[in-house]
Order: sequence, then C-alpha cells, then structure tokens
Amino acid sequence: MTARPIAIVGASAAGLAAAEALRRFGWSGPLTLIGDEPHLPYDRPPLSKQLLHGAWEPDRLLLRTTEQLAPLDLDLRLGTRATGLDAATRTLTLDGEHLACAGVIIATGVTARTLPGAENIAGVHTLRTLDDALALRARLTGTGRRLVIVGNGVLGCEAAAVARELGHDVTLVGIDAIPMAAAVGTEIGELLAEEHRARGVTLHTGAVDGFETTGERVTGVRLTDGTLLPADTVLVAIGSTPAVGWLGDDPALDTTDGLRCDAYCAAAPGIYAAGDVARWDHPVHGRPLRFEHRTNASEQGMAAARNLLAELAAEGTEGAGNGEAQERHPFAPVPYFWSDQYAIKLQAYGLTTGADRVETTVLDRAERRTVALYGREGNAVGVLTTGLPPRQVRALRAVIASPAPWEEARERIRTATAAG
Ligand SMILES: Cc1cc2nc3c(=O)[nH]c(=O)nc-3n(C[C@H](O)[C@H](O)[C@H](O)COP(=O)(O)OP(=O)(O)OC[C@H]3O[C@@H](n4cnc5c(N)ncnc54)[C@H](O)[C@@H]3O)c2cc1C
Repeated sequence: MTARPIAIVGASAAGLAAAEALRRFGWSGPLTLIGDEPHLPYDRPPLSKQLLHGAWEPDRLLLRTTEQLAPLDLDLRLGTRATGLDAATRTLTLDGEHLACAGVIIATGVTARTLPGAENIAGVHTLRTLDDALALRARLTGTGRRLVIVGNGVLGCEAAAVARELGHDVTLVGIDAIPMAAAVGTEIGELLAEEHRARGVTLHTGAVDGFETTGERVTGVRLTDGTLLPADTVLVAIGSTPAVGWLGDDPALDTTDGLRCDAYCAAAPGIYAAGDVARWDHPVHGRPLRFEHRTNASEQGMAAARNLLAELAAEGTEGAGNGEAQERHPFAPVPYFWSDQYAIKLQAYGLTTGADRVETTVLDRAERRTVALYGREGNAVGVLTTGLPPRQVRALRAVIASPAPWEEARERIRTATAAG
C-alpha cells in the first residue's frame, strides 16, 4: 500500500511554511499542497501597498519560485478546491476525489466580506487576492477617479493612502467615526485620521444603504442618512470571514469564528490548523485567539507542522521519522503586525484589540512618532508604535512578550523609547 500523504489545504503563507517545516523536521512521505487559487504561493501584504500602487508587479510577490519549491517534492494541486473533510478518517474531498491522509493541516485563511448585491455591480471591488488587487489596480489607472472605500479599518486605510498617492479623489466611509479605532484605539486612530485628512482623503461616518448604478456600473454609494457619495469605483473593505464553510458540519470540528484548536494547533486527532483560519488556545494569554497577521501565518504554519509530525511519530506513522519533531509544543507567539500608510509605519506587538486601557505618548506629532500601551485587567498586553526606528521597536517586543504589570511595562517602554 502506498504511504498516505500529509495534505495541507491552503497554498499561501501558512500552508507553505507548514510544507517547508514538515520536510525540515523529517517527513519523508508524500506531501500534498492544495490551493484553490491558480497562483503559486504569494505574499498578501503588498496587495494593498506596492502592488496596488503599481510599484511592484505580481512576480515580486511570489513566496517561492517553481525551482525553489522543487526540493520539497510536493504534489502541488493549484486551482483545486477542498470541498470536505471527514475528520475521523482524515479523508479530504477534492473536487470529487477522496484523499485519505496520514494528517491534514488546514490553512485556508479568510475571505473578504462584502455587501449584499455588490457582487453583480461592475466597479465594486473587494481586496483579498492577487486577482482582486489587479482588478482594482486596473480601475485606478490615470488620476482623478472617484474612489469610495467602505470600511475604515486597516485595509481601507492602506488602500486610501495608495489611491491618494496616485492622485485619486478618495472618500473613506466607516461606521466608526475614527479610522482603525477597533484595531488600535481612538488616539492612534485620530492621529491616522489627521494624516489622511492632511493628504486629502475625505473621511465620512455612516452606514451603507446601497449602491447607485447606471446600467450595471456603480455611480455612487448611498448611506442610511441619505448622503450620496458619487463614485467611479468602490472598494468594500469591511472585514473577513474565516474560510471554514467547506468543512461542513462535522461535529468533531468547531468552526465558530475560525477552526477551533487546542494550544498545539490541533483541531482533532491528526488535524491541525494554522494562519488566519485558526483560533487556538494561546497559552500565554489564556484564551482562544485568532490573528489575521502575516507573521503569525508563517510561525503557526511551522508550529502546526512540527506538532502534527510529533503526533504522527508517536502513532508510528511511516514517514514521520524520528527527527527533530519528537515532542509537541504549545504555540505561544508574541503577536506582531504592521501597516504602512503614506510614510507612516505602524507596528504592534501583543494584543491591541479588546484593551480596557490605552495610554498614548506622542513623541513628535509632526513626524507622527508615537508609542501606545494597551492594558487588560491591570496588565499591559500590547504596544504599538508609529514612526519609530526598527531598533527601538524591536526592543519593545520583550516588554510585552507576556502580560506584564502596567507600571513596570510603562517604565520599560519609556526607557526604550527615550534612548536615541
Ligand atoms: C491586502 C492585504 C494586506 C495585508 N497587509 C498586512 C500587513 O500589512 N501586515 C500584516 O501583518 N498582515 C497583513 N495582511 C494579512 C496577511 O496577509 C495574512 O495574515 C496572511 O496572508 C494569512 O495567511 P494564511 O496562509 O493563513 O491565509 P491566506 O493568505 O488567506 O491563504 C489561504 C489560501 O487558502 C485558499 N483556500 C481557501 N479555501 C480553500 C479550499 N477549500 N480549498 C483550497 N484552497 C483554499 C485561499 O484561496 C488562499 O489562497 C494583509 C492581508 C491582505 C489581504
């Protein structure tokens, strides 16, 4: 009998990191990487930055070339969608084919949410995939087009910055009066609002009621307060939904807000998850968390691979070897994300959402140099900076690696940001 493969569903940052880690940790059996997009694994953050801007072309986003993937000896199935998983037998359904696996890693990420009816209107876009970004970019050729961005979270703000730099007329609409407030709090949000306004973005608070169209093409966005925002192009950037629908309702899997995993990234025996789709018990923060952060996707892909391999080795699965991955380890990263808007680099360690206390220090308003500390239940749990040099930012990671007493963390941050 041929050895069963380990299959990874989702050929992006987390899936690729898992595949590479499986080989590195000694998996010598077949390895199948399944992705429903037609492209080789590529990096998503530049989609709303350099690629949208036109500064980079798609080949620059590739995480690996075909030649670089060759040593992994992958059974690479691009343009292939997994449509079901029987967790008990670890059997995947792929467009009608059944694939019995030794283990499965689920790295299917999230999909962009949209507004009712938007799919059928020309000129209304979402931004999650390379194809999405190229379609939006094609609408932003020339200058002076009217772009309305619905959703003033991180993605909406990044796209607004690029579109303004390209000379378009940009309106950013959100239910929250302050951009990115849910992710970074009101003070940093205000600072970013100030920058967007200074660059000529019109900020608008409101909820969308519907679209105005001529024929099938969008001409405007109607808000519930009666305002009509004229538009040639609309970007809907209202968040995302974990890509778990394909898993069906297998009672062995909890798919409420992502695929629920234990501290080892295991959703069920032999089934692991990583990246944007995974909600796992963070051992340091003591509660289930799910991040949509690029660094987490790679780190968790590696962790899930290592832990799956250790489980398979313990089961005596052929191919799992006896290499480095002999023991499972809880996955306990220090969360990290960044965002680029105009010349502002925003970087954060730890948790910045769900804080019950935020203290922002503006080091230099004109230069947009700030540091903000985020607290929860008396402890400091996150730190965010804008405009600080990399050396200072890196020094903050240790302060927030685990929840720290508020006063102590505040003092350490003051010292770290005062030096230089
Ligand atoms: C425009 C944009 C900008 C971003 N900027 C930043 C940033 O500045 N900083 C930051 O920290 N993070 C950023 N992120 C987030 C970061 O890109 C993600 O955290 C990361 O891509 C997650 O990787 P992933 O592998 O978990 O999921 P994804 O990258 O979403 O990949 C999942 C893959 O699985 C495929 N798939 C889904 N379902 C199936 C199925 N049933 N069968 C087969 N394949 C399937 C999907 O099509 C996709 O290719 C950004 C994201 C976007 C979209």
